[in-house]
Amino acid sequence: MTAPHLSQQPPPKPPVRPRDWPPPSVPPSSRRTGRVRRRLPARRRPLVVDALAAATGLGLGISLALGIGAQTVSALHAPGGVATALGRVTGMLSGYAMVITVLLSARIPPLERALGQDRLIVWHRRIAPWGLYLLLAHAVLITVGYTRAAKTGILAEIGQLLWTYSGILSATVGSALLLAAGVTSYRRARSRMKYETWWAVHLYTYLGLGLSFVHQVDTGAPFVGHSLATAWWTSLWVGALTVVLVFRVGLPLWRSVRHDLRVAKVSSAGPDTWSIVLSGRHLERLPTAGGQFMMWRFLRRELWWQAHPYSLSAAPEAGHLRITVKELGDHSTALSRLAPGTRVAFEGPYGVFTADARQSRNVLLVGAGVGTTPIRALLDDLPRDTHVVVLLRGRRSEDIAHLDEFERLVGKRRGRLHALTGPRETVRLDAPSLHTLVPDIAGRDVFVCGPDEFTRTVVAAARDAGVPARHIHHEDFAF
Ligand SMILES: Cc1cc2nc3c(=O)[nH]c(=O)nc-3n(C[C@H](O)[C@H](O)[C@H](O)COP(=O)(O)OP(=O)(O)OC[C@H]3O[C@@H](n4cnc5c(N)ncnc54)[C@H](O)[C@@H]3O)c2cc1C
Repeated sequence: MTAPHLSQQPPPKPPVRPRDWPPPSVPPSSRRTGRVRRRLPARRRPLVVDALAAATGLGLGISLALGIGAQTVSALHAPGGVATALGRVTGMLSGYAMVITVLLSARIPPLERALGQDRLIVWHRRIAPWGLYLLLAHAVLITVGYTRAAKTGILAEIGQLLWTYSGILSATVGSALLLAAGVTSYRRARSRMKYETWWAVHLYTYLGLGLSFVHQVDTGAPFVGHSLATAWWTSLWVGALTVVLVFRVGLPLWRSVRHDLRVAKVSSAGPDTWSIVLSGRHLERLPTAGGQFMMWRFLRRELWWQAHPYSLSAAPEAGHLRITVKELGDHSTALSRLAPGTRVAFEGPYGVFTADARQSRNVLLVGAGVGTTPIRALLDDLPRDTHVVVLLRGRRSEDIAHLDEFERLVGKRRGRLHALTGPRETVRLDAPSLHTLVPDIAGRDVFVCGPDEFTRTVVAAARDAGVPARHIHHEDFAF
């Protein structure tokens, strides 16, 4: 192990902090003999992804066929017939896109493990606007088609639709809720509001979907008088709701009760950074790997209603988990004041920033700021024969959380650790400097976690240094 590299200064030692990991209550004998056997999450299963992709394509085909099949040639030639027909097809496609959008964020474990939550959320964000565009097209086309058919004015027809057709009024309210979620998700709008506000608006999409469902089966031409089509559509929507309830409510609830997590200890891990050790039951059976994160809900009066993502900063040790949190806003700051014994509920574990993402044997782990936390946990799970090089970035050595543990673990593996400190101008992270620090970088997998800009810089530098894209893995601390 090389001594931490500290931008041309003699290597100052990180401040000595009381040790919080492994928890003193863990008997050293159990650590040495490895008696505590953890259950790691199942490996990636591309088969699941292929099967679900095929099922999605099939469902799209059925929905489209139902929309098209609801037309007759004579209806198409009637006044407003084409607009109404297009309105029905766009309605079916919109409904289908919304079901897929919901399923992409339903945290289905095999999908999460195969693709990772950040990728699923990217797809969720790509498909969701199409559901809304199609919804708007559906509303406009149906209104135009019906107005032409009835030969009335558009306002009179809107009134007619709202007050006399079953479920249209509630569907309109539902659509407004869905559109509100869409508008508040645009980057500019979202960056101006608190995460919690955005989340609350998003929660109303479930109500919006429920309100719009009734009119689909009650008045939708593909369904009226077609019991098989109604059964398919209803099972699709009820199935999606069940999946959401099972994986976003039931499973977290069951795991939280089963593992009965409580805060065991809160201690300083650096300036504005806190290490929170949690104790619980049967943690060896929690299928988690170093590098994963969970959505944490601390059951204290002012915190219980919000869940925030934090990565594990160590692999579970006999009855204990640890997260390390940097104070950034209300929630993260409140965690420093948690009293021992506070109950904790959680969702997850999630994420594919884990040892089994590797494509090659040896790795370079790069972390900056509080982004060193999943890197630290990853170190626990890498196979013994993996050679590791770790680059940690902080302004000063004391800004790097758990530097002492990195030193110990990297030393044990006979790896190399570089703590890159100093102002930005003096610490370059381009391809030549990466190459100087890690001459065999092109043959390693690179794991990066840190602030957005840092991650982008390191990923680009690694690519320039010859690391194939498939060998670069990064965890983003913002959805
Ligand atoms: C996968 C992942 C892993 C993370 N791991 C860690 C970690 O190990 N240690 C750590 O200190 N931080 C971690 N974070 C960041 C941490 O979640 C945020 O710093 C924290 O939620 C901020 O909340 P706040 O109320 O203190 O601050 P706010 O001022 O409310 O938010 C600060 C920033 O965090 C974002 N944010 C707030 N709440 C959430 C939320 N529920 N979900 C996603 N983003 C949110 C906001 O968009 C904003 O950009 C992680 C984030 C993600 C997405």
